[in-house]
Amino acid sequence: GTTGITELLLSRIRDVADYPEPGVVFKDITPLLADPAAFAALTDALAGVAAETGATKVVGLEARGFILGAPVALRAGLGFIPVRKAGKLPGATLGQAYDLEYGSAEIEVHAEDLDADDRVLVVDDVLATGGTAEASLQLIRRAGARVAGLAVLMELGFLGGRARLEPALAGAPLKAL
Ligand code: AMP
Repeated sequence: GTTGITELLLSRIRDVADYPEPGVVFKDITPLLADPAAFAALTDALAGVAAETGATKVVGLEARGFILGAPVALRAGLGFIPVRKAGKLPGATLGQAYDLEYGSAEIEVHAEDLDADDRVLVVDDVLATGGTAEASLQLIRRAGARVAGLAVLMELGFLGGRARLEPALAGAPLKAL
């Protein structure tokens, strides 16, 4: 049941204090990835979200969104599209810049990977401020595709990412396991 999987997943996430800088509690999913039962349960749950939302493609956000998103896409019978940090994709790309606490970053997608027929589920491990997810949703819409939803393993609610994402989601669901 729901309680069982939540407890299993939580038990395989390691809190690392003051990483990568003082004051941050890093949510380390490597113990979960190393446990095939937990990794399979997570993959099945996220693939269920893909089915519920009617997604036609899965976008994974570099880098842990690749590790989670690729098996979800396979399990759901959908294509996997990587959204990468700028400068890593060899083909024609669309880019989206976004603000960080200090400075800015940019993500890119291969323009040919998304079109108007697509409904895209975005997958990542942790939703923090929502800046990365917001940029990915904007990128998907600018590529002409629709957003099926955003699915993450874990949401850090105190950072307010869910509220920030409301405009970009435009009614599409945000599911945090
Ligand atoms: P944000 O754009 O602030 O929502 O940050 C989200 C990205 O940063 C995700 O790709 C996460 O993998 C990573 N991230 C942010 N905060 C944490 C954290 N406390 N623990 C683990 N990963 C994090």
